[in-house]
Amino acid sequence: MNLTLNKVVPYLKQLTGHLPKPDQIETAIAASPLFLQTMIDYVRKHHLPLRVGAENCYYKDSGAYTGEVSPKALAEMGVHYVIVGHSERRKYFHESDHFINQKIRAVLRNHMYPIVCCDETMGRLGSGKPSKWVVTQVISALQHVPADQASRVTIAYEPSWAIGTGHSASPDEAEEGCYLIRHTLSDIYSDAIADRIRILYGGSVTPRNVSSLMKQTDIDGVLAGGSSLKPSTFLKLIKFRD
Ligand code: 13P
Repeated sequence: MNLTLNKVVPYLKQLTGHLPKPDQIETAIAASPLFLQTMIDYVRKHHLPLRVGAENCYYKDSGAYTGEVSPKALAEMGVHYVIVGHSERRKYFHESDHFINQKIRAVLRNHMYPIVCCDETMGRLGSGKPSKWVVTQVISALQHVPADQASRVTIAYEPSWAIGTGHSASPDEAEEGCYLIRHTLSDIYSDAIADRIRILYGGSVTPRNVSSLMKQTDIDGVLAGGSSLKPSTFLKLIKFRD
């Protein structure tokens, strides 16, 4: 909830011609539902290699839920990704693991791709050995998500202490969290499916720390907040290899 509608086209114009091919790096922007149609129209008209995502949705497709955003309506607009379970949704709007699971299934049911944010409410059970660790949010998020749909899910590891604070997790800490998630996904599904599920790190990612984060084995991409507000900084993140 940072920019307004009149900033959307000028923002996208600054990206035009500078985004990598999607087979190299996939770029996506998730925004308020107020901006999505404008974004989708621009992306289609200018053939931008950019996926458009929503920051949230409800779990019912339609009905008397005044003020909520229908996943069915998002899918019809051409929205590709939906962020679900962001720590701000969990914290300020008291979204429970169960509610988040319902939304994830609604996003999948509507042929979109959920980006599921999980934060640090992870419990290391038992001896603390990796095989005994459990990520409660991941397990709950994927309840009733069948194996043949699991690879459409992206998980974002976003420790809440790192979000918007300027204090990113170190590459080792971020890798530890993402490894833990990968391990949990292997336990739930299989090694092969866990390898296909993309895991992102989010929390104070900047052009300075992005390449060291992206070198980690289990970090497949990043979810950036503050660094995405200016197109020039966002492009620096995307072009971290240059
Ligand atoms: P920052 O990159 O500003 O820490 O935000 C991360 C985030 O929450 C992205 O959704």
